[in-house]
Amino acid sequence: MPVAVAIVGAGPAGFYTAEALLEVLPDVRIDIIERLATPFGLIRAGVAPDHQSTKLVSRRFEQTALQDVVHFYGNVPVGEAVSLSELRSFYDAIVLAVGAGIDRPLGIPGENLEGVYGSALFVGWYNGHPDFRDLQPRLATSSAIVIGNGNVALDVARVLVKSPAEMVSSDLPDYAAAAIAASGIRDVHIVGRRTAADVKFTAAELREIGQLAECETVIDPADLAVPVSAADTRDRRLREKNLAILRGLAAGPHGGKPKRLHFRFNLTPVAIEGGDTVEAMLFRRTHPRDQGSQERLCCGLVVAAIGYRASPLDGIPFSASRGLYPNDDGRVAPSVYAVGWAKRGPSGVIGSNRPDGEVCAAQIAADAAARPFGPAKPGRKALERVLSERRVRTITFDDWQKIDAAEVAGARHPAPRRKFTTLGEMLSVLADRGRRDVSGDDAKRSTPMMQDR
Ligand SMILES: Cc1cc2nc3c(=O)[nH]c(=O)nc-3n(C[C@H](O)[C@H](O)[C@H](O)COP(=O)(O)OP(=O)(O)OC[C@H]3O[C@@H](n4cnc5c(N)ncnc54)[C@H](O)[C@@H]3O)c2cc1C
Repeated sequence: MPVAVAIVGAGPAGFYTAEALLEVLPDVRIDIIERLATPFGLIRAGVAPDHQSTKLVSRRFEQTALQDVVHFYGNVPVGEAVSLSELRSFYDAIVLAVGAGIDRPLGIPGENLEGVYGSALFVGWYNGHPDFRDLQPRLATSSAIVIGNGNVALDVARVLVKSPAEMVSSDLPDYAAAAIAASGIRDVHIVGRRTAADVKFTAAELREIGQLAECETVIDPADLAVPVSAADTRDRRLREKNLAILRGLAAGPHGGKPKRLHFRFNLTPVAIEGGDTVEAMLFRRTHPRDQGSQERLCCGLVVAAIGYRASPLDGIPFSASRGLYPNDDGRVAPSVYAVGWAKRGPSGVIGSNRPDGEVCAAQIAADAAARPFGPAKPGRKALERVLSERRVRTITFDDWQKIDAAEVAGARHPAPRRKFTTLGEMLSVLADRGRRDVSGDDAKRSTPMMQDR
């Protein structure tokens, strides 16, 4: 009897799980249910617009989506269009691959001032995510602070200081390109709570900072004189490598470029200050030499890149403190599994989600063998029935390929694509194609049935 699996979320973790299920369960039916009209999760909406080669991994996932037994249902938010408990009655197994899309708060006074954003919002804005395209971040300032010492912080800082010429081969939306170019930002401070030996940047991203056309790096060499005391030798090597790159950046050259990226360490955020809008940020110095004194940095923009959490879903436990669904190596509840950031929290690179998919597929296969899933579940037939009753305009993978082709066709060389950033724009593409390629019927079916997000 075929095993009906619903994967909720079409990011890397969802696709790696689908790929692994196709390997281990010959008779599987997989429905990938995604709240956005577009697949690939943070590959489209998180990975920086100037890192196009990283985004190429989506081609591999395309091959999975095109398998006969795999169906993609875009524009279907689970918890709104269909509930998790309904999915549990329709499918033998549900895989939560919903990621962790909500910013962790800084938890300090002033974080709600205008001009302060979490990186989910800010990165979503410059990546054309429909939820955040209208953010209109406050960029009219000469100085910005990015909180965090991971790659997301580095991405945000780099996108803020790169010149328009350096972004021409990116898929930065026009509105974001124009706003950043007009911003007047000259100084960006990347601030970490811990030492320079504790940064979580990857070497390649850090080295890239030394290649920026209009921006030089400012680092106090005294901050780099830190002992590396990691027990694990691999970790020690990575720390030493990062410190060596930071020393190279600190050495310059200096003085010839109009923008500066300041790396600051040992500073714990205390408060964000301002009237209605952010004017400065107050930090406590944590280096022993500073004996807990405070430092104020003036700024008109703060982006906090300090981590993410998932959102609760009806009918399953949620750990508010960890921001994920508590699980035993991915097992969340009978017939419910978690993978990727929904399982582990927000850490690792795209490939780190692959083992989660493999473990999950093996668990589903083992559970199916040990305890046949009982009377055949209706699977996608039941899903399609409720979505049609609720007049949800689902986006198929074929629809996505048309949207994708229109984005690529609309790009100005050498940009790889010109992203559509609203559901309405995407539906217009489908309506146009429907009129041209098939008949008026297709165009009629393309009428938006859910509110444009
Ligand atoms: C800003 C940023 C930049 C990054 N850059 C890189 C990089 O350069 N290289 C790299 O290797 N890694 C990078 N990463 C890490 C990488 O993106 C993650 O490891 C990976 O995307 C996590 O995969 P996931 O499938 O768990 O989550 P996601 O990619 O977030 O996918 C989750 C999907 O679930 C959907 N979803 C959420 N809720 C629902 C719901 N209720 N119903 C239906 N669908 C839902 C979401 O819309 C999304 O499409 C970056 C991460 C961030 C945040």
